[in-house]
Amino acid sequence: SHEMLQYTEKLSITGQLAAGIAHEIRNPITAIKGFLQLMRSGTEDKKSYLNIMTSEIERIEQILSELLMLAKPQESKFERKDITLLLDQVVTLLSTQAILNNVEIVTAEPRAHLPFVDCDENQLKQAFINYIKNAIDAMPTGGTLVIRVEQLGTEKIKISFTDRGMGMPEEVLSQLGQPFYTTKEKGTGLGFMISKKIIENHAGEVNVTSEINSGTTVEVRLPMVQERVGLREATN
Ligand code: ADP
Repeated sequence: SHEMLQYTEKLSITGQLAAGIAHEIRNPITAIKGFLQLMRSGTEDKKSYLNIMTSEIERIEQILSELLMLAKPQESKFERKDITLLLDQVVTLLSTQAILNNVEIVTAEPRAHLPFVDCDENQLKQAFINYIKNAIDAMPTGGTLVIRVEQLGTEKIKISFTDRGMGMPEEVLSQLGQPFYTTKEKGTGLGFMISKKIIENHAGEVNVTSEINSGTTVEVRLPMVQERVGLREATN
């Protein structure tokens, strides 16, 4: 049955995650253990060992803090927010990082209405932050990221993040969102999965299109808060 299918799906994702977490955390711990042994036995340069150990510990911290975000949806707090305002705040938050990477963030907002959504503000911001950070990473020599907000009919809002970066080959695109799948040296491979989960918790959906050496577009669709038709007539 349908329920049975969902249950199996959940189990396998949990199993996948558990295996991934164990693997991703065991690696830095094994490295730390190795360097501790080296330090105990040798007269080698202990400072460089300490540096490596610190960065391995930081990696564990990063993985754990991203994983904790997966636990948060249980305590989400939904409020009515102006999506363009929310995006502006996210862009401001990342402006330094963008400038340092020579990336210009352009926001195109042809707003007829104020596009409001019911959302957990911090979670939605986190999802957008992940898309923007990925776009910045995809343009190592700089470029432009265009963020566009559009209204789709009367029920949905589409937010798109378009970079002119390296794009993704088919094998990356097909693995995108698998926990711990990353092509970056310092990546965790959790960002996209977490963002997708957040958008789905908001009854939304995510679509990605990408072309190698040309760029990537991440499209997010979210339900829009319906205008309360009849309110005006009632007050007049
Ligand atoms: P991370 O950023 O830690 O690697 P993500 O889950 O956010 O984890 O992304 C997984 C992989 O998908 C990245 O390592 C990268 O190869 C690819 N990716 C994601 N977004 C983009 C993008 N905008 N352009 C090119 N590649 C991307």
